[in-house]
Amino acid sequence: MNSAFDLTGRVAVITGGNGGIGLGMAEGLARAGASVMIAARDARKSEAALARLQGNAGQSGALEVDVLRKDSIERMLADTAQRYGRVDILITNAGTNIRRPPEQYSLEDWAEVLDVNLRGTFLCAQAAHPYLCRTGGGKIITIGSMTSIFGAAFAAPYSASKGGTVQLTKALATAWAKDNIQVNAVLPGWIDTDLTQRARSEVAGLEERVRARTPQGRWGTPADLAGIAVFLASSASDFITGTAIPVDGGYSAQA
Ligand code: NDP
Repeated sequence: MNSAFDLTGRVAVITGGNGGIGLGMAEGLARAGASVMIAARDARKSEAALARLQGNAGQSGALEVDVLRKDSIERMLADTAQRYGRVDILITNAGTNIRRPPEQYSLEDWAEVLDVNLRGTFLCAQAAHPYLCRTGGGKIITIGSMTSIFGAAFAAPYSASKGGTVQLTKALATAWAKDNIQVNAVLPGWIDTDLTQRARSEVAGLEERVRARTPQGRWGTPADLAGIAVFLASSASDFITGTAIPVDGGYSAQA
C-alpha cells in the first residue's frame, strides 16, 4: 500500500518500549511496517513484549538500555544501526515518577525523576542526531504529560520534567529543522499502565476524578497511542515540528 503512513523499511528505537505506552506505540509502528527496537532495563519484560510485535512485515528486536547512562544510550543507537543498517525514528518514552508533597522530596528523588525523564530525553536525542542525519532526516517523538500543561500537587519533579520536555522538544525542532528532523511531543492523558496503577493506589480518588473530567468518560489504553506514533513517525507529518499534541480523550479541553 502506498500510503503517507507507511513505515516499510524504516527503523525505530523506543526507550521503555517493553510495556505501557511505549509498547502501544511500538505495536502501531510495527503494524505500519517499521522494524522496531524496544529498549529498556528489564530484559525479561522486553522479551515478552517482543512476542507482541512478531508477525508484522518489519523485523523487531530488544536490547537493554539505562537512560541514566550516556554510554548505554550511545550503545543502544550503535547496536540498532548495526543490526538494521539505519535509524529513522526515536521515541524517548522511558519515564518514571515519585509522588509526594513538594516539601518532602529529597535531592535524590528530584535527580532520579529529572534525570530519567528530561536528561534521558536530551541524551537520547543527542545520541540519535548523527544517525538521523545519515539517512537524510528522521523523526523524534518525545513524551510529555498533562503535567506539561497543568500542575499536579503530588508530582513536582515529574511536572518540571514534563514541562521541560515540551520546551526541549521545541528547541530541538528549531535546531534540527535544517537536518530534516521533525521533533514533536505527545502529551498522553491518563492512560492505564503500571505507572498509573501505582498512582491510583497512592492518590485517593484519582480513578474517579480522571473519569469524571475526561469528556470521553474513560481512562486511555496504550493502544490509544498507536495512531499518533504512526502519524508523527511517518511522512504524513513532514511539515509538523515543535508541537505538543494531547492524546487525552478531551481532558485538556475541559474547563
Ligand atoms: P510504564 O511504567 O509502564 O513504562 C515506563 C517504561 O520506562 C518502562 O518500559 C520501563 O522499563 C522504562 N524505564 C524506566 N526507567 C528507565 C531507565 N532508567 N532506562 C530505560 N528505561 C526505563 O509507564 P507508562 O507507559 O505509563 O509511561 C511511559 C511514558 O509515558 C513515561 O514517560 C510517562 O511519564 C509517560 N506518561 C504516562 C502517562 C500515563 O497516564 N500512563 C501519562 C502521561 C505521560 P524497564 O523498567 O524495563 O526499564
